[in-house]
Amino acid sequence: MLSLKERDREVNWHPYTQMKTADDIIPIVKGKGVYLFDEQGKQYIDAVSSWWVTLHGHANPYIAQKIFEQLNTLEQVIFAGFTHKPATLLSEKLLQILPDRQKKVFYSDNGSTAVEVALKMSIQYTQNQGKKKTKILAFKNAYHGDTFGAMAVSGRGTWTQPFGEMLFEVIFIDTPTSENLENLQSEIKNIADEVACFIFEPLIQGAAGMLMYKAEDLDRLMKACRESGILMIQDEVFTGFGRTGELFAANHLSEKPDIMCFSKGLTGGTLPMGITTCTNEIYNAFLSDDQSKTLFHGHSFTANPLSCTAALASMELLLEKETQKNIRRITEQHAQFSEVLKKHENIENVRQTGTIIAWEVKTSHETSYFNTIGKVFYKEFLDRGIIIRPLGNVMYLVPPYCITSGELDFIYQNIIEVVEKLAAAPVV
Ligand SMILES: *Cc1c(COP(=O)(O)O)cnc(C)c1O
Repeated sequence: MLSLKERDREVNWHPYTQMKTADDIIPIVKGKGVYLFDEQGKQYIDAVSSWWVTLHGHANPYIAQKIFEQLNTLEQVIFAGFTHKPATLLSEKLLQILPDRQKKVFYSDNGSTAVEVALKMSIQYTQNQGKKKTKILAFKNAYHGDTFGAMAVSGRGTWTQPFGEMLFEVIFIDTPTSENLENLQSEIKNIADEVACFIFEPLIQGAAGMLMYKAEDLDRLMKACRESGILMIQDEVFTGFGRTGELFAANHLSEKPDIMCFSKGLTGGTLPMGITTCTNEIYNAFLSDDQSKTLFHGHSFTANPLSCTAALASMELLLEKETQKNIRRITEQHAQFSEVLKKHENIENVRQTGTIIAWEVKTSHETSYFNTIGKVFYKEFLDRGIIIRPLGNVMYLVPPYCITSGELDFIYQNIIEVVEKLAAAPVV
């Protein structure tokens, strides 16, 4: 009889994976809290929340119960011409905790589609008002997803290279620093007439390698956009729902965006769903007796009741005192560990925002996503029962909020051991 691993090899094509040279895949049969269990019963601490989505641990019993009840009540209904309680309740509750300008909720299926919707809203918003602005502003190194529109507003590189000529034109600028801010502000004023919107990952460029920049600098950049009439799309697909230590990255900022995107932690990492929210100014620009001003966008599973129920349950858990305390505790523990890392001779560029901590291992080799040093570390951590998936030589932790301080200490201790064991060793 073939093993699950062998059967997988026959039929499955994995994401972001060169199937020819891919390492052995690990069949996971069960998840509980911060742990995942493989076929042999070996346990792994999920220190990256399964691609940054799992907030309250795997197979969370409360979310599971809520989904089960909803599954037996209403599993799906077309969202054009119909509505249901989970979607309405979720929209009400989400808008309550977002910046007050956010007034309407549009549902889709994942982070990339949440971004597509945001881009389409912005472009059509300007057109519906009879303006002709078609250019989009984004940060260099940005990551907003893998569909064509989301790819176009993401930094161009190896991932997007095969499609380069088909991606629409985007103006890319550097993330703000106190040094370049004035230049960026005047650049924005110069191009304002042709730019419909500015899309950005607030505070942290996740997929680019957990690159962090200051809220105060972003605030000033956002102010320049607001004054120049450029719509702001804040992509909180990664930063939303507590990751930055606050409920949203927005809570670190004084300037408020026009449109926001959510996914990943939205359902606590249980079911796929994306959300795009917007202001009434944007929503109102689509109200017309002229049918052509409609937002013609939707997905088969728009506002799926199960996903909405999962998101509601996850949000309840997130807002509990206990979870908020855990987020603060993780933030403090990370801060202490940052000090340890900063003193280590083999480590540089230690950075932290809330529950997200990242660092780089010094290497004499060229650094990039394909940097082999990451693979060596990945395997060593797996051997030790910890899932840490480096982006090149950038290593990071994004743990579920239910992780205990003992489990975090276990991870920290292993990180130091692994760095000391491998950093000096030659990388092949
Ligand atoms: C992951 C991510 C996306 C894309 O989300 P998917 O659900 O993977 O399509 C978009 N924006 C940001 C900031 C992300 O981190």
